[in-house]
Amino acid sequence: MVIKTAEFVKSSSRWQDCPEPNMPEYAFIGRSNVGKSSLINAMMNHKDLAKTSQTPGKTQLINHFLVNENWSLTDLPGFGYARVSKSMRRDFEKIITNYILNRTNLVNLFVLIDIRLAPQKIDLEFMEWCGESAVPFSIAFTKADKLKPGAADKNVAVYREELLKTWEEVPEMFVTSAEKKLGGDLILDFIRTTNEM
Ligand code: GDP
Repeated sequence: MVIKTAEFVKSSSRWQDCPEPNMPEYAFIGRSNVGKSSLINAMMNHKDLAKTSQTPGKTQLINHFLVNENWSLTDLPGFGYARVSKSMRRDFEKIITNYILNRTNLVNLFVLIDIRLAPQKIDLEFMEWCGESAVPFSIAFTKADKLKPGAADKNVAVYREELLKTWEEVPEMFVTSAEKKLGGDLILDFIRTTNEM
């Protein structure tokens, strides 16, 4: 998919305040620092559409972008901050889960995972919740350039095995690097082929 236009629409702190759900939507989520803003910017061919490296806990907003005037990209707040209080984390989680469960036009959620890390409990639990809640999701591994290709493949295989302990099948997986502009095109192709509205 060629990105002709990508524009910021709105920041909202509650799902009720988000733009009308009148076009197919694809959302991106992951722990703080996973490389979410960098990946969105790389895919959109834009230097600073999504703001990178914001202070964890500060930006609790759901950001909507309009792409090619016919689909919506959502940048969800990062989850699992170690540095915020428990109650703040709960508030965060509520915002995110309410959004995901109430967003009728959500076609797919991309769960971002740093390819260098062994499977983390918080990510696995979040995906478990997606499964239980019938939320369609895929995994996008980030920062693939930080590993040699063999090591990257090995980590993806480890992840797959971990998921297969509890899942019958694994979700679609994309290996990306915002730095090297890799993999974003595969995500965009996936979006194009599932964008049915
Ligand atoms: P966010 O908090 O998930 O939005 O993460 P950012 O996009 O701000 O990225 C966090 C840090 O990881 C920044 O220092 C980025 O430069 C770095 N980063 C993000 N993506 C990549 C990547 O693909 N490769 C490398 N080497 N670094 C990356």
